[in-house]
Amino acid sequence: MSFDSLGLQAELLRAVGEEGYTAPTPIQCQAIPVVLEGRDVLAGAQTGTGKTAAFTLPMLQRLAAQRVEGRRRIRVLVLVPTRELAAQVAGDIETYGRYLPQLKAAVIFGGVSINPQIATLRRGVDILVATPGRLLDHAQQRTVDLSAVEILVLDEADRMLDMGFIRDIRKVIALLPRQRQNLLFSATFSDEIRALAGGLLSEPVQIEVARRNTPAELVTQVVHPVDRGRKRELLSRLMQEGDWRQVLVFTRTKHGANRLAQQLERDGISAAAIHGNKSQGARTKALADFKAGAVRALVATEVAARGLDIDQLPHVVNFELPHVPEDYVHRIGRTGRAGSEGEAVSLVCVDEHRLLADIERLLGRRIPRRAVNGFEPDPSIRAEPIEQGRRGGVAARPRAQGGRERHGRRSRGAGAGRQRICP
Ligand code: AMP
Repeated sequence: MSFDSLGLQAELLRAVGEEGYTAPTPIQCQAIPVVLEGRDVLAGAQTGTGKTAAFTLPMLQRLAAQRVEGRRRIRVLVLVPTRELAAQVAGDIETYGRYLPQLKAAVIFGGVSINPQIATLRRGVDILVATPGRLLDHAQQRTVDLSAVEILVLDEADRMLDMGFIRDIRKVIALLPRQRQNLLFSATFSDEIRALAGGLLSEPVQIEVARRNTPAELVTQVVHPVDRGRKRELLSRLMQEGDWRQVLVFTRTKHGANRLAQQLERDGISAAAIHGNKSQGARTKALADFKAGAVRALVATEVAARGLDIDQLPHVVNFELPHVPEDYVHRIGRTGRAGSEGEAVSLVCVDEHRLLADIERLLGRRIPRRAVNGFEPDPSIRAEPIEQGRRGGVAARPRAQGGRERHGRRSRGAGAGRQRICP
């Protein structure tokens, strides 16, 4: 399936092409045509499935197709649980809509001054991305007018309910015109979500894409505490002693991936690096060698691994923890095929304790620590900031200096509390 066959207009296809997307993801294949038709949608899709483009692309097309004369009014409202997601979605709208400059989008969330938001709203926007609480603040102050909304998107609805936004959501819905298109995206379907969907959606098309991630519970997870300078040595030891034959190793940076692959080779472990700076040919070869067993360790940056057609593996190693906790879940989802053993191993140095705590908060549980004999961390070593110092034996490169990987998720938007470091 190609993007061309989904019925999207040239301006959107151009933007998508420039993002380096070659084919739509399953949720995009299913959602784009029905959203274009104007139908309501109930979609089960997690982060990482391409869900944002699945609603953004057709929504932009619908707006562009019907010009409204007169004052610019809010025609699409996207409700999201967090300011990070708000900034991310707004960034995506900007990216995909870059050749439809007639459409204006804005983002509002709490925790920042309301006045610039009021000024932005006053100038007029077509698409508003908002967290529910701040949106209601604006509604109370009459600084937002939702009476012309044509499309409502609830993104990560389950998280919004988990965060206690149900009443706010209902209040917002009460401010919208009755006649509108509704799109509800949720990773899970609790009774509460179904109740919300039941009252909100009219004859929805239900779309469920296969979970991209093996639920964390099915994967054996372990943290090996280790000093930052000894990670490579520990990885070689684990691979050799455990006779691991096919290991996907995650690093945070492209440079780190290259370096680690070379070091593993020197340790006698066949390895290849795969990331956005490699040509398609080099990536394809590395992957083929890995699948054929000629390469034991495939060292990848997160975003490069996302595009890889490798299914489930016996071992996934986090050589460095990701900055975004959700990425941990994506990574470990590469292991643990139903019924077979899968192990996700994280090599965690003192610099990464905060990242580990964030991940455990997301998982809702603690990952067992197991120090490996001879690799117990030296308690005298102090934590260093990951962005500026060295981490995991790999030179860090702050995002500002780094390029963006073509197929990758970006660290987007002002207000994102945690900056994602691009590999
Ligand atoms: P999302 O599930 O919306 O958070 O998207 C996850 C990531 O996938 C985003 O960084 C998108 O840039 C990327 N993405 C979305 N659609 C595609 C596609 N068709 N091909 C490759 N990457 C994509």
